[in-house]
Amino acid sequence: MRQGKTFIICGPSGVGKGTVVARLLASNPNLYFSVSATTRQPRNGEVDGVHYHFLSREQFQSWIAEDAFLEHAEFVGNYYGTPKKYVDAAMAQGRDVILDIEIQGAEQVHRQRPEAVRIYVAPPSWAELERRLIGRGTEDMEKVRSRLERGKQEFAAASSFDYFVINDTVDHAVTEITAIMTAEHCKPDERIAMIDK
Ligand code: 5GP
Repeated sequence: MRQGKTFIICGPSGVGKGTVVARLLASNPNLYFSVSATTRQPRNGEVDGVHYHFLSREQFQSWIAEDAFLEHAEFVGNYYGTPKKYVDAAMAQGRDVILDIEIQGAEQVHRQRPEAVRIYVAPPSWAELERRLIGRGTEDMEKVRSRLERGKQEFAAASSFDYFVINDTVDHAVTEITAIMTAEHCKPDERIAMIDK
């Protein structure tokens, strides 16, 4: 009966989007995580088809040519994109969809689907973000610097988002995003359509 909604989670690399999203998925079986495609190398523990679809640059280009992406963008030397068909299939089942994507991708989705809800997740401070990114140990220092730089540039777009959540603790961020999702389903359009049905 419920209409599926798309929730876009954006925020600088290292802010903890992955952890927050994993917690949201664990407590909400109606939520579908859109597994992105990427040309970057898998990190330790990342599984193809679960965390990402890991593609070569050639494969990524052919997905673009086949119009398989809802959006795609370049991020610090690699390509990332959201496969369209899984998102649409989940929405058709009335499920909510969560996209963990960077800002250019968020803008592309917003242009095509303005009803998608954009949530910016910020760190409590840039110093804390740097600490988390270094502590994670998944990138060398040069990549850490590029990711931090990119995060600061992206922050300029945060004020145009629908919501702004500070990930000071995971519990706090998860509570706020859960509240946002609940509130978004209490809009009159959706509720009145449900009653009509
Ligand atoms: P990471 O390499 O740390 O997994 O991701 C780097 C950045 O790419 C993150 O900000 C993440 O949100 C973003 N990203 C992941 N998947 C996609 C996607 O499908 N499209 C876009 N535009 N960005 C993505």
